[in-house]
Amino acid sequence: MDGTISKLVKELQAIVGEENATDDQAICTSYSRDQHWHFVPAKNPGCIVRPGDKEEVRAVLMLANTHKIPVIPYSTGINVRGLTIPVHDGSILLDLSRMNRILEINPEMKTATVEPGVTFGMLLEQTRKYKLRPAFPDAPLTVSVLVNYYLRGIYQTAAKDGHDHTLSYEMILPNGETLKTGSRALSKMPYFRYGVGPDFAGMFCAHPGTCGVVTELTAKLYRLFDHRKEYFIGFDDVNTPTRFIYNLMHDELAASIRLVDNQSWLKGIFGTFDYPYEELPKFVVCVLVEGVEGVFDAKDTLVRAYMKECGGEVLHTFYFRRGYI
Ligand SMILES: Cc1cc2nc3c(=O)[nH]c(=O)nc-3n(C[C@H](O)[C@H](O)[C@H](O)COP(=O)(O)OP(=O)(O)OC[C@H]3O[C@@H](n4cnc5c(N)ncnc54)[C@H](O)[C@@H]3O)c2cc1C
Repeated sequence: MDGTISKLVKELQAIVGEENATDDQAICTSYSRDQHWHFVPAKNPGCIVRPGDKEEVRAVLMLANTHKIPVIPYSTGINVRGLTIPVHDGSILLDLSRMNRILEINPEMKTATVEPGVTFGMLLEQTRKYKLRPAFPDAPLTVSVLVNYYLRGIYQTAAKDGHDHTLSYEMILPNGETLKTGSRALSKMPYFRYGVGPDFAGMFCAHPGTCGVVTELTAKLYRLFDHRKEYFIGFDDVNTPTRFIYNLMHDELAASIRLVDNQSWLKGIFGTFDYPYEELPKFVVCVLVEGVEGVFDAKDTLVRAYMKECGGEVLHTFYFRRGYI
């Protein structure tokens, strides 16, 4: 065992408790690769540390800064393309998954404040009680809400850019200082992104793990409508649905639109592998229509009219009614 690392682990254990810092090789190896292991060579971190709150994060960062040791934050670790794979020998992997508290759901402000380890699945379980939901990426429900928004996730919905859902956050810098963005900087209210001066939330976003560690983030929530309908519409070539998609976007009729090939539709959305997909149209447009009663019906009628106009074939529909999710 490397003497420097084992001395470091002792110092880290003094901060987070003995069971939450280790340089055990088997455990370090389990953090050494991600699903892009064939592009990004595997590399073990020097040690793993699992803080339980932001004061422990601060103490770990200050210790690492004193010794000039690289730190890699890791929230749910569903990263792709080597984002949490160490580059330097002896790096500290800062596993934030113990920090998985939903600090607040505010139904009036339609916001949620979360720690790094909170996943989309965990958050939806709580927000649905208020008929609210977070904005979802196309990723598994096991990814971190905080990291996805902080990294500016990619969305197929009317919500545009992942970072649009972020209102404010708190980031601990390598020297232990705290950066608070938006209205957090001036008051205890984290609900407003813009105030006087520059947009610090935007300035510091999408620097995964290089500026500091985000310990909590407040995000917008959206209405979970009683009426929601998903259409899967088949087309034989990729150009025909263009006008259909344009019309839906122009009239703001769909909450989500995705154009996929028939294999992605079957395997990725239906989870079916055993199907004669050659018999299907080559492309599938997935359209989610939602709204309150009356508004939903009006949107649905228009979507059907546009669908008919461009000759799409409805392959399947899901209709979610009150209480379904
Ligand atoms: C099959 C699949 C499909 C996906 N599809 C989509 C999609 O359609 N749209 C989309 O937006 N995303 C998509 N993703 C990505 C996914 O949404 C995750 O958000 C992303 O992979 C990051 O993973 P994570 O949240 O587990 O973060 P981690 O893997 O823990 O970290 C990712 C990066 O952020 C840094 N980081 C982690 N925590 C912090 C912190 N607290 N403070 C500062 N930096 C931190 C890490 O160092 C690392 O660089 C997909 C992922 C998969 C596996």
